[in-house]
Amino acid sequence: MLTLDFHPSGRHFLQIPGPSPVPDRILRAISLPTIDHRGPEFGALGKRVLAGMQQVFQTEHPVVIYPASGTGAWEAALVNTLSRGDRVLMYETGHFASLWHKLATRLGLEAELLALPGGEGWRKGVQATLIEERLKADTGHAIKAVCVVHNETSTGATSDIEAVRRALDAARHPALLLVDTISGLAAADYRHDAWGVDVSISGSQKGLMLPPGISFNALSPRALQASRVAQLPRSFWAWDEMLELNASGYFPYTPTTNLLYGLAEACDMLLDRRTGGLEGVFARHRRWAEGVRAAVEAWGLELQCTEAASQSPVLTGVVTPPGVDADQVRHLIHQRFDLSLGTGLGRLKGRMFRIGHLGDCNDLTLMAALCGCEMGLKLAGVRLAGSGVIAAMAHFAAHPQPGALPCSGT
Ligand SMILES: *Cc1c(COP(=O)(O)O)cnc(C)c1O
Repeated sequence: MLTLDFHPSGRHFLQIPGPSPVPDRILRAISLPTIDHRGPEFGALGKRVLAGMQQVFQTEHPVVIYPASGTGAWEAALVNTLSRGDRVLMYETGHFASLWHKLATRLGLEAELLALPGGEGWRKGVQATLIEERLKADTGHAIKAVCVVHNETSTGATSDIEAVRRALDAARHPALLLVDTISGLAAADYRHDAWGVDVSISGSQKGLMLPPGISFNALSPRALQASRVAQLPRSFWAWDEMLELNASGYFPYTPTTNLLYGLAEACDMLLDRRTGGLEGVFARHRRWAEGVRAAVEAWGLELQCTEAASQSPVLTGVVTPPGVDADQVRHLIHQRFDLSLGTGLGRLKGRMFRIGHLGDCNDLTLMAALCGCEMGLKLAGVRLAGSGVIAAMAHFAAHPQPGALPCSGT
């Protein structure tokens, strides 16, 4: 649709669960001139984004920034902490969990994937009791790391990471806890230190509202200790050189200068106390998710995530009725209304679509997205039980965003 010399009129509605729409403030920050990454100004920028990301991860320990997509940070977490042939326990919540498992296997790890039968794991969050049972059975402590996805972007399920931490503790198992919060961070509540996570992995193009291109590892002291003995080969991903130079705000190789301008702006926006700081961010996305779920319920369609407590504040996966190809509905919506929705991934291809409510949203951008969905579903011949648009409007009207906009005259 979009070529270099053609763009449809009006704004494109980018409602896929990442990349999310980049706010103008961030685009303007990115447009500043590129500076010398070894020059005197850069160190201040480097220090500022590293400190900002510690606040976003809610950690006092180091954060590493890579010029790479989230997949690179997945690999970095494993190669810095593990050795060839190490056993790792992973949990299949959906497509992204399976991709991380594949990556671990390719690195030469003995990656074990805990999965519920019949694809049930793709409809729920991590069942921490299963992890606890598996770890209790591992009396010889062969398992060196437990890897889970915080927000499974392929299904719309957010897992209880605190419960996974408790499972490790209950089993008195020394494995490291590695968590992918690539789409969770800065939209769903996430606490690296308080939840005892050893490596948290994230990326720029989801809750952080940046274009794709940078990703993160947040570390724990135990992860750093593990990295001193870990044997998997690493150079580009190695934490030691990064941390050494990061101390003065610099990087061992050329960082994405302009994206870091954007990251500084994103941290300012997310941490701004006038809009409630991180707690405000989490509350806003919870409320938007409730509005979208009210719409899906009114349409009479099924949610991909059937476990109420795990339904994601980041995105909502909507199952289309039998016989309706979700991708055809998505294509129609894109063509008619210039609205992009997320496709069904892996085993869910054609069975469902995903509505993103991460990053830079407000009630009206979401209402527009829901209007596009409703019109498209009807045009595709899907019989809807009722109007999701009306249900979401009613939900947003009845549940005002606390302190949303400063009112003039008060
Ligand atoms: C987006 C995403 C990834 C992959 O990140 P890339 O930036 O595409 O490499 C991995 N895990 C989750 C949960 C994601 O949402």
